[in-house]
Amino acid sequence: MKYISTRGQAPELTFEEAMLTGLARDGGLYVPAEIPTLSAEEIASFAGLSYEEVAFRVMRPFVGDCFADQEFRDIIGRAYAGFGHAARAPLKQLEPNHFLLELFHGPTLAFKDFAMQLIGQLFEVALKRRGETVTIVGATSGDTGSAAMEAFAGLEAVNVFIMYPHGRVSEVQRRQMTTPTAANVHALAVDGDFDDCQGRLKDMFNDFDFRDEVKLAGVNSINFARVLAQVVYYFTSAVALGAPHRKVSFTVPTGNFGDIFAGFIAKQMGLPIDQLVVATNQNDILHRCLSGNGYYKGETIPSISPSMDIQVSSNFERALFYAYDKDGAAVAQLMDELKTGGFDVSQGAMEFLAATFASGRASEDETLATIKSEYAASGELLCPHGAIGVKVANEHRKTEVPMITLATAHPAKFPAAVEKASDVHPPLPSRMADLYERSERVTRISSDLAALEDHIRKTIAK
Ligand SMILES: *Cc1c(COP(=O)(O)O)cnc(C)c1O
Repeated sequence: MKYISTRGQAPELTFEEAMLTGLARDGGLYVPAEIPTLSAEEIASFAGLSYEEVAFRVMRPFVGDCFADQEFRDIIGRAYAGFGHAARAPLKQLEPNHFLLELFHGPTLAFKDFAMQLIGQLFEVALKRRGETVTIVGATSGDTGSAAMEAFAGLEAVNVFIMYPHGRVSEVQRRQMTTPTAANVHALAVDGDFDDCQGRLKDMFNDFDFRDEVKLAGVNSINFARVLAQVVYYFTSAVALGAPHRKVSFTVPTGNFGDIFAGFIAKQMGLPIDQLVVATNQNDILHRCLSGNGYYKGETIPSISPSMDIQVSSNFERALFYAYDKDGAAVAQLMDELKTGGFDVSQGAMEFLAATFASGRASEDETLATIKSEYAASGELLCPHGAIGVKVANEHRKTEVPMITLATAHPAKFPAAVEKASDVHPPLPSRMADLYERSERVTRISSDLAALEDHIRKTIAK
């Protein structure tokens, strides 16, 4: 299995190489040269299997011979052992034919754990075999940083530094980054805002001496291995509701388009998906584009669903690659136009996108109203991201096709918004009820590049 760049100008890589590289050298994103398919019989045989076994069968064809079967099974086993639910991604019914897929039973209570936990184990095995170590540096405004720290905690081949803007993340989010005890993961509270953190991260990657010296690596959401991990729960949930013998639909709270793109892959693999619905908050560039209005950047307006506050959606480039019939030059041209504001989608590509994705948006008031009404209707307390999904799903679902809405975070991760909407304070799950008592470990640091690089150098030399 080879991986090719969405811009057509980077070398073809194996799964492992693409995973360790992240961004392609031509600025594109790696995708499999061919998407493998599963027969209806193979999909039907998933019924009743463990999450881990389905994960093995779904992901195996993408991995090629980078990992031996038993090795890959063990990696998957270790990745999901720390989840707080035996089903890993349980389904809950909201209404007749409307189901919630709970993706928040991992160590940091958001769906990012599904991908990050797997990638941590994959990196460890691949790097040990190569006799290499890497330094992962990330910038986070919330969920990704803690998911990375939990995933790589205690592994030998990796040091992790996560920069977050001091004083600008929620208390739960901060504590999830400052309380891990493993010696190889480090929280950095940077004096500045999220753009400063992201800017310094870019600066580090552009400082080639530093980059080579510490062997800098990234695990952001464009990494194909992260997308792949997310394909699995589309299969487990659809099969639980009768696939492949009947169709199902999905609604996905969307930011960087990684999660919904995993649904697209599942459909290409042969899972009978009727609708794939993109749900956005007020930062609705994707909804505007899928409604035929072109892909034009706006201002990012902070919302109560911060993990979906995006200006451009990095994985959407992958969808464009398929919409433009795998024409890398055409995608490169669009991405060039995006630098100066945006682009119109060609008629043929728009037909492909409209046939593949539906979309909708929820305002702040609609999000709060949905948390309240869903709590009254089913007793389910939704986080703001999941509430956006439920609101948009209700606008699209058909009585004859089950709709599965992805609940991407636990309500306790966003207690202020949830309490404002419902008057209920969402409690943390018992396995992390002591989060507020755990001691915190964090380095407060200026947003100066030299200071940050110096700190990272000294810490990994210890
Ligand atoms: C990251 C995130 C999203 C958006 O997922 P994408 O893959 O970026 O589209 C939605 N909800 C939560 C809680 C998240 O952490």
